[in-house]
Amino acid sequence: MSSFPTKTDVLIVGAGPTGLALAISLAQAGVDHVLIDKLAVGQNKSRAAVIHAHTLEALETLGVADRLSDTGLKLSRFSIRDRDRALVQLSFDALPSKFSYLLMTPQDTTERVLAGRHAELGGRIHRGVVAERIEQHDEYARAWLRDADAQLAIDARYVVGADGMHSIVRESAGIDFDGAQYAHSFVLADVEMDWKPGRGEVFLFFTERGPLVVAPLPNGNFRIVVAMENAPEHPDVACIQNVIDDYGPTNANATVHRVDWSSRFRIHHRLAKSYRRGRLFIMGDAAHVHSPAGGQGMNTGLVDATVLGRVLARVVSGAQPEETLDAYEQLRRPAARKVLELAEGLTQMAMTHGMLARQARNVRLSVINYLPPVKRALTMNLSGLSRRAQAELAY
Ligand SMILES: Cc1cc2nc3c(=O)[nH]c(=O)nc-3n(C[C@H](O)[C@H](O)[C@H](O)COP(=O)(O)OP(=O)(O)OC[C@H]3O[C@@H](n4cnc5c(N)ncnc54)[C@H](O)[C@@H]3O)c2cc1C
Repeated sequence: MSSFPTKTDVLIVGAGPTGLALAISLAQAGVDHVLIDKLAVGQNKSRAAVIHAHTLEALETLGVADRLSDTGLKLSRFSIRDRDRALVQLSFDALPSKFSYLLMTPQDTTERVLAGRHAELGGRIHRGVVAERIEQHDEYARAWLRDADAQLAIDARYVVGADGMHSIVRESAGIDFDGAQYAHSFVLADVEMDWKPGRGEVFLFFTERGPLVVAPLPNGNFRIVVAMENAPEHPDVACIQNVIDDYGPTNANATVHRVDWSSRFRIHHRLAKSYRRGRLFIMGDAAHVHSPAGGQGMNTGLVDATVLGRVLARVVSGAQPEETLDAYEQLRRPAARKVLELAEGLTQMAMTHGMLARQARNVRLSVINYLPPVKRALTMNLSGLSRRAQAELAY
């Protein structure tokens, strides 16, 4: 690690989607930064598969929205269903945005596009470097790092934790991560299957065990996400087929042929007590995690990154005073709280137990189809556009 810098203005820990987006924002503004990740190579898992309109608007400021749009499938329809019954049908094509659609593209593609843009701006990812602990001093923060060969220290004016749910930056800052873990595991699978309802829509089925998502992917596969008790570590064709037969529509003629990738994961719903302590900041999954219902996780982190990038660039360049840094938490923590409420609301509504309670829920939801303002509010919430005005205060 002899060529590794010993000083920088901003150290970014974690080169997932949010760390990459922040690095692009800083590179565009000419801010000296160092981006590290403990992984030797980037992740190649498809994980987050939907990018919403507000996220694309934020990513446009980084010069990647059109490139990302070209990689994905643009869908305008989203429905909430209970087996064959459509409870709520939403359309995204009238959204007040240039990006009036749901962009389906796998997370490894998103990360590849972001990394390409960062490299184009002269940026570099220092891979195989793990942050072990961060100390704060009056004039700088010191990060203790390790690679395969050695330990070293880097001093930074600011350190940003984009290091996921088990963030070492959050831990070093002593920031509480309040919340809990869902009792169920979630299963995620990218499958090749026959699916009569077609590839023009994202389906969210409310089932007693929780949400079941069926969404088309750009390579012709479908993404399945489902809550499951005692889920196997790598769900196979039979497992996914059973889920769709038991909880999906009866008239979909769904036949699962192949599972290309599958995973089981536990979900938490947690929000960090604060987003900054002194010279340390957190964003993305380091700051907020929640159920995948509504596909908001990565989206919220990407907007965090564009806001923090702007705020940091102004302070590091001396254009604005240090106190301006508080704007990041003021703008982004309330947004995450709203996203947690949305994801939690959808998850709890899905899990309604008992025939009568489910019927009552279905009637309540069906009424939404006859209330255009409520439908519009839900679409604006899912697309993130209801949180746009706040984020734009930083631009
Ligand atoms: C199986 C699975 C399925 C998911 N599905 C969806 C979905 O359908 N929709 C959705 O919106 N979201 C989904 N998510 C969540 C989504 O993937 C995350 O919200 C998103 O990846 C968060 O990005 P991030 O950059 O904040 O953190 P991460 O993607 O977790 O990236 C953190 C990075 O930090 C690095 N790192 C961690 N600790 C250190 C350290 N000490 N030193 C150096 N580097 C470190 C890691 O190697 C990693 O590269 C899913 C997540 C999982 C695990």
